[in-house]
Amino acid sequence: MVHPRVLRALSTPLVGHLDPAFLGIMNDIQTLLRGVFQTKNRFTIAVSGTGSAGMEASMVNIVEPGDTVIVGVNGVFGTRWATIVERCGGKAIRVEAPWGQIIEPAAIEQALRQSGPVKAVAIVHAETSTGAWQPLEPIARLCREHDSLFLVDAVTSLGGAPVEVDRWGIDVCYSGTQKCLSCPPGLSPFTLSERALAAIKARRTPCQSWYLDLSLIADYWAEGKRAYHHTAPISMLYALREALRLVDEEGLPARFARHQLNSDAVTAGLIELGLQPLPPTGYRLPMLTCVTVPSSMPEAEIRRDLLSMYGIEIGGGLGPLTGKVWRIGFMGESSTEAHVLTLLNALEEICIRGGWLSTPGIALRAAARVYNRKAF
Ligand SMILES: *Cc1c(COP(=O)(O)O)cnc(C)c1O
Repeated sequence: MVHPRVLRALSTPLVGHLDPAFLGIMNDIQTLLRGVFQTKNRFTIAVSGTGSAGMEASMVNIVEPGDTVIVGVNGVFGTRWATIVERCGGKAIRVEAPWGQIIEPAAIEQALRQSGPVKAVAIVHAETSTGAWQPLEPIARLCREHDSLFLVDAVTSLGGAPVEVDRWGIDVCYSGTQKCLSCPPGLSPFTLSERALAAIKARRTPCQSWYLDLSLIADYWAEGKRAYHHTAPISMLYALREALRLVDEEGLPARFARHQLNSDAVTAGLIELGLQPLPPTGYRLPMLTCVTVPSSMPEAEIRRDLLSMYGIEIGGGLGPLTGKVWRIGFMGESSTEAHVLTLLNALEEICIRGGWLSTPGIALRAAARVYNRKAF
């Protein structure tokens, strides 16, 4: 869901991409983005395009032909990132883990030891295809020890869980607008450390993408320069500024706590319905709950009923998890107690009608306990 203030910002009359008023809006966005990324990085911007544009920008700017990149692959997005490395002419070393599990830092360490110079290590923070929440700090330390850049995909985590770019030592980090920032899709928040900027400056070959060449885009976002590169998506930037203001007004700690509480509640309810979380305890995302669906329940049919009868859309499994899991997102504006209880109630009704549940109210009661409420 998108806050009405963001929808209103989208309909603000347009100005030009070099209008002084617009340049002020860009400054606001940079300041607010530094806040959510928890960074002082001067290069902190919104790349034109969805999260995948940020993903692509991260690799095309860092990787030159022949470079080695270690990519953690435990779901759709690590898989996608590795193929981008290869399209850049780089060598992708895939460190794999079963879908639903995290990438063990020890496995990254072993790959770093065995691989000669490694330009970068790329890790997905929140694997949206499996619900796994990847710890980043141990891998950041390994990157420093081996003089590799640390690239992090924070598309689903930013604004819903801590992403501490400076404290953890992340060199390249990007996100998307339509997940926990609760803004329509279309921009990719992006930040680069000084180490990453130096690596881009030291390139021997030009970036293979002209549109996503950050050394050119930097001159549009740099105060004092503001040189035209491509026309900024004006309305989307209006919307992003408003969405980031809402994040700032709520405050990051309160926002993270809200996502965690609603996640705990929905997880407790789903377990009562026989739906077990896929990732192990301690590694479950607070904005996306991935549960395995028993083979006795027709998962696609239930999802269809949720949408057609209750107006609730949840995600099915992707790749090897097709037909086996549900991915239930409570992100940004959508992470509310009312949504959690509405979903659990709808699922209970569907399960009772289908004969998969005989005790009405158990999921709602489990969620109510998490919220410290009396129920029934
Ligand atoms: C959604 C997502 C992306 C891709 O973003 P798009 O906006 O679909 O281009 C990349 N990585 C992760 C982890 C995502 O969840």
